[in-house]
Amino acid sequence: MTAIELLFFVIRICISLGICVVMWSVQPLLGAIMGMVHFLAFPKLVTILAERFGDKPIGKPTCSNGCCHNDDYEWTRSENGIPICKCNCGTEYATDGRQFLKIGSTGHKEPYMVWFKKRGWVKEESKVD
Ligand SMILES: [Zn+2]
Repeated sequence: MTAIELLFFVIRICISLGICVVMWSVQPLLGAIMGMVHFLAFPKLVTILAERFGDKPIGKPTCSNGCCHNDDYEWTRSENGIPICKCNCGTEYATDGRQFLKIGSTGHKEPYMVWFKKRGWVKEESKVD
C-alpha cells in the first residue's frame, strides 16, 4: 500500500464513520447502512475523480542526481507562465503540464520526466504510451 492509498483509506474510514455517527443520532439502522454504503462506494468515487484528474501530475519526480524528492524542491520563479522550481542540488526544473523539464546551465530546457496516468513519473526518453 502506498502512502496515497493509505491516506485514501484513512479518509474513507473517517468519512464513513462520520456519516454513520451523524445518521446514528437520527436513526441507528439508517446510520449503519449509510456508513456501510459510503464505505463500499468510496473507491468508485475515487476512481471517477482519479480518471478525471489523473492527467495532472502528483508531486514531483526524483531530481536528475537522484537525491532530491518532492519536498526538496522550492518554487523560485515563473517563466512565461511556466513555474520553475529548484532542487536541493541547485538544478532548476520547469513544470509544463505533464512534463518535467530540466533547465541546463545555459538556460535551455531539456526533457527529463513525463507523467503518465497509473505509471507516474517516467524518464522522457523511455516514453512507452
Ligand atoms: Zn537534487
